[in-house]
Amino acid sequence: MTTIAFIGLGNMGGPMAGNLVKAGHDVTGFDLSPEARTAAAGRGVTIAASVAEAVGGADAVITMLPNGPLVLQVWEELARLTGPGVIVLDSSTIDVDSARKAHAMLDGRLTLDAPVSGGTVGAEAGTLSFMVGATPEAFAAAAPILQPMAGRIIPCGGAGAGQAAKLCNNMLLGISMIGAAEAFAMGARLGLEDQALFDVISTSSGQCWAVNTNCPVPGPVPTSPANRDYRPGFAAALMLKDLRLARAAAEASGASIPLGAHAARLYEAFAGAGHGGEDFSAIIRFLQDPAVRD
Ligand code: NAD
Repeated sequence: MTTIAFIGLGNMGGPMAGNLVKAGHDVTGFDLSPEARTAAAGRGVTIAASVAEAVGGADAVITMLPNGPLVLQVWEELARLTGPGVIVLDSSTIDVDSARKAHAMLDGRLTLDAPVSGGTVGAEAGTLSFMVGATPEAFAAAAPILQPMAGRIIPCGGAGAGQAAKLCNNMLLGISMIGAAEAFAMGARLGLEDQALFDVISTSSGQCWAVNTNCPVPGPVPTSPANRDYRPGFAAALMLKDLRLARAAAEASGASIPLGAHAARLYEAFAGAGHGGEDFSAIIRFLQDPAVRD
């Protein structure tokens, strides 16, 4: 049993902390939101009144927060509150620079950036994919803690490498969803049935997760959000957040991402028109709108 402090008990953090409790760990959590605290208490998490109270005596600390500035704010506190050898890992999706700063702030601790994919379904089921940036020593120490929350744990390199991998993956996902949406929208214009086009693409060289698993039209994949009026799933606002982070990373590193930048602009327009809460595959409806298309 490990004593774990869990900071940020929202849609992802709450169920992740619950899976650590189920695995027999002693988990104390803190969140600014009373609703999140109540829900986590229902999952067996001991609720603390502050970050300091949650972290006192912990062998490991996990943060799962909305953005980079908040992670740095909490990690600044953790720099004062944790001693050498404590495992401190962040699973939020944040920019690579903030992740590297966070590692540097907690020099002497076993630090990891370990963002996830798999969404709230994966968080509940304990099947998240963790992409990890850490030293081999920190990776080995944290792996048993990640296990109850994870389907896969992938070492990506040193400090910031987990966030870098997450941003590259999600930029590709955003681009490929727009491509899938364009293909189905054009297919319909050309008189193709959605099912016929799906049968071709899903077994041919255009196959990808955006088509085979999260198909943007209702029908061919019964579990895709298109079949429930595009309730997420993975909300367009979160895709936009990740594309903006990818754009910032490209600017900082000098990488050329013409399609990633264009995907960010399309999701900015889509979310700006009030669709941020819909699944990101709903971008197909936007592409079908003549006012946008022409
Ligand atoms: P969320 O908004 O549901 O949860 C974040 C929680 O952090 C909130 O409950 C908030 O009250 C709390 N919080 C904010 N500042 C705090 C502070 N200073 N101290 C303590 N608690 C604080 O968000 P989420 O969906 O759980 O996502 C968390 C992170 O995971 C984000 O970075 C997101 O991009 C990433 N992510 C989300 C998904 C998803 O499908 N929701 C998937 C992969 C990654």
